[in-house]
Amino acid sequence: MKRILQDLTFAETETLILSLGEKKFRAKQLFEGLMQGKATSEITSIPKSLKARLQEDYEDNPVKIKEIFHSTDGTEKYLFELADGNLIEGVLMKYKYGYTQCVSTQVGCRMGCKFCASTLGGLVRNLTAGEILSQILVVNALHKAETAGVTNGRAVTNVVLMGSGEPLDNYENVLRFLRNLTAAEGLNISARNVSLSTCGLVPKMYDLANEGIPLNLTVSLHATEDMARARTMPVAKAYKIADILKACDYFFEKTGRRYYFEYTLIAGENCDEAHADALVKLLKGKPCHVNLIRLNEVKERSLKALDEKAAYRFLGRLEKGGLSATLRRQIGVDIGGACGQLRASYLEKTEEENG
Ligand code: SAH
Repeated sequence: MKRILQDLTFAETETLILSLGEKKFRAKQLFEGLMQGKATSEITSIPKSLKARLQEDYEDNPVKIKEIFHSTDGTEKYLFELADGNLIEGVLMKYKYGYTQCVSTQVGCRMGCKFCASTLGGLVRNLTAGEILSQILVVNALHKAETAGVTNGRAVTNVVLMGSGEPLDNYENVLRFLRNLTAAEGLNISARNVSLSTCGLVPKMYDLANEGIPLNLTVSLHATEDMARARTMPVAKAYKIADILKACDYFFEKTGRRYYFEYTLIAGENCDEAHADALVKLLKGKPCHVNLIRLNEVKERSLKALDEKAAYRFLGRLEKGGLSATLRRQIGVDIGGACGQLRASYLEKTEEENG
């Protein structure tokens, strides 16, 4: 596999350009072009000879949009194709304040959560930093015209690492991605507008806290005690809720940022009154916010969503107990909003087609 230019920081791009015997300003032209979502071949300011040399070693276009699905609520879902033919997916949610993109960090996932479609076929491979970044670059390029006067042609203002994959299971690449995402010469997105969601890989949560990046740390909790959590999340056998909470507090200590929990409501599993009370007991007084999610039913899995009324009752009980909580609005349901659903259905379709 060829290397990926979007993996490089600006300083590394300069080093590369100098090593090719080119003038330093070419690095700026190249890097700026890449950050605008251009393939090397489309950057008009750099000479043909340099393009040709770069294309010998580097992928010209590491992430391509293969298909776009439009939801009636404005949400867009993308099926991206990587240079090696692997498929990943992403979602763009349009809000008044800007566009939030959900990016994938791995092809597949090895965490094995019972409700999630991303993990159905296990982990295929990690994405490189440039492959994660390029998901945003191509979406920015797609929406460039409509956002030219608003956000300088950079449509995506907020990023959530909540697509396929476990970001902390691909730590080095994700960190590298975050650097280019937030760097002034990169996409210049404030870390405060970035949310990283993890199933709770405790040692990596400490590593992340020590980086001191003021992003929004989000932990997928989905249960109030370890045995129950292990029923839907095998990772619970490795890391205890108590240790996850300690790591969250350490993150708060290091970054001053409150943290978030995701709690997917699964009927008959984790959302009766006793669970709400247990969640209050567990989290009360902590600098955190709880995001309730209604399960997006995945056809390969038998788990069922809680109805909307009951979900609001659960929310009410948390609030009454003193927690800061919200029920996440369901978006893009008509286009398979849940992680991995699109890729799974696409792979299934092509398998059927190919017999
Ligand atoms: N690996 C990361 C990112 C996963 S996706 C993590 O575990 O946090 C982001 C969130 O969506 C997680 O909280 C995940 O548990 C949740 N999720 C996955 N599949 C879902 C589904 N079918 N319905 C509702 N939430 C789901």
